Amino acid sequence: MRNEAELEIELFCKGVRLDPSTDLKSYVSSRTRAGLGSGLDIILLGNRKKRYINVPVNEEFVKNSPFRIMEAFGRYTLTDDRDPHLKYVIDIPPLPEWYKKKTSSGKLMSRVGVLQGTYLGVYIGDICSFWKTTPKTACKFCTTGVNVGKSEDLEKRVDDVVETAIAAKEESGITFIHFNSGEQEKGGLETAAPYVKAIKERVGLLVGVQVTPSKDLWKYDWLIDLGVDHFSFCYEFQNPEYLKKYCPGKFEAFGHKTFFDAMEYVAKKMGKGRNSGEIIAGIEPIEDTFKAIDYITASGCFPTVCIFRPLVGAELEDYPTPKYEDMVLVMRHMYESCMKNNIPIGLAPNIEVSLIVNPDDAVELSPPSIKKYFYELRRKFFKIAALPLFLSKMKKRKISVDAFDPSPYKKSPL
Ligand code: SF4
Repeated sequence: MRNEAELEIELFCKGVRLDPSTDLKSYVSSRTRAGLGSGLDIILLGNRKKRYINVPVNEEFVKNSPFRIMEAFGRYTLTDDRDPHLKYVIDIPPLPEWYKKKTSSGKLMSRVGVLQGTYLGVYIGDICSFWKTTPKTACKFCTTGVNVGKSEDLEKRVDDVVETAIAAKEESGITFIHFNSGEQEKGGLETAAPYVKAIKERVGLLVGVQVTPSKDLWKYDWLIDLGVDHFSFCYEFQNPEYLKKYCPGKFEAFGHKTFFDAMEYVAKKMGKGRNSGEIIAGIEPIEDTFKAIDYITASGCFPTVCIFRPLVGAELEDYPTPKYEDMVLVMRHMYESCMKNNIPIGLAPNIEVSLIVNPDDAVELSPPSIKKYFYELRRKFFKIAALPLFLSKMKKRKISVDAFDPSPYKKSPL
């Protein structure tokens, strides 16, 4: 029998089939995005924690999955065809009532943002520019260009986002909003700035931003003063050949250097464990994924490791899904690198990301040791000690910084 971390990883790699006894089609996400999020959010009721997992259900490889979700009397069970004795109790998070509400401009809130686990994810800005070039330079695992403007609204006014975030906070208890975007002509940080300020002033949440990196590092100072609590840097592959082949737009426009400079800059400025480097596991050789994890954690960030999903509609639709055994090694390495570099993980209240194996989801993969014992003890202590700080960051507050004019932050050349 798998432990709960192994089961989570195997679900990401193999997906689940929905038994005819279930009626869950409306729960399956229609937004597929950058290699993630096509599936069904389930909650695995583990011994240590509730695990929010976005399990693949739509893709071709799922047909061969041993896992099935059954429903009886309103309860859901996950079964494994390889052993009829293996049954796991799961929950399906109910679709929030606010999904059906409209903003004051008439937008359906579910087309503004969606829950991805326990937080609100919002795509901002225009369709990624890499989808508009000829030839197309979009990342080959990505489907953002297929979805933005179709399964969700392209234009999101700041007020639409604020009203949706208020509803999600009041009704779903979210503590965190995550803005993500593809390459934007006016710049990712510029695109995010007005939303960040409005959330801090009018809603009161922790705010994360995931946009393409800026070479103007001083602009990160501006965003931090506007209220960003977390940046993530999706550089996808450690091996430059893979970045070039599978993310031609990112390779040409930024290369690794721009990502690494920005990530190291904010890590130094904001402190350990506040930011993340995001990579895809299952395409480049596993040794490169290990190197990426080592680099990210040595920089003071935590790794966000996405298990590659060959999404319907992506160029890599027919690419094989990663091997479960490899992904167990990757996730174990992720946790142990965080431990080695003393990266504080899992401290923020109520942030469970369903699209990835969270670093603290992988605790069970690492064998017991004195080092692990003290690392876990420290994590428990800091989770309690840091709560007042998080709560104060989640209070509404006036931001005096201009969200449209970064120029006061521009440093004069030496
Ligand atoms: S940068 Fe790549 S992953 Fe991100 S939206 Fe554009 S094509 Fe997709």
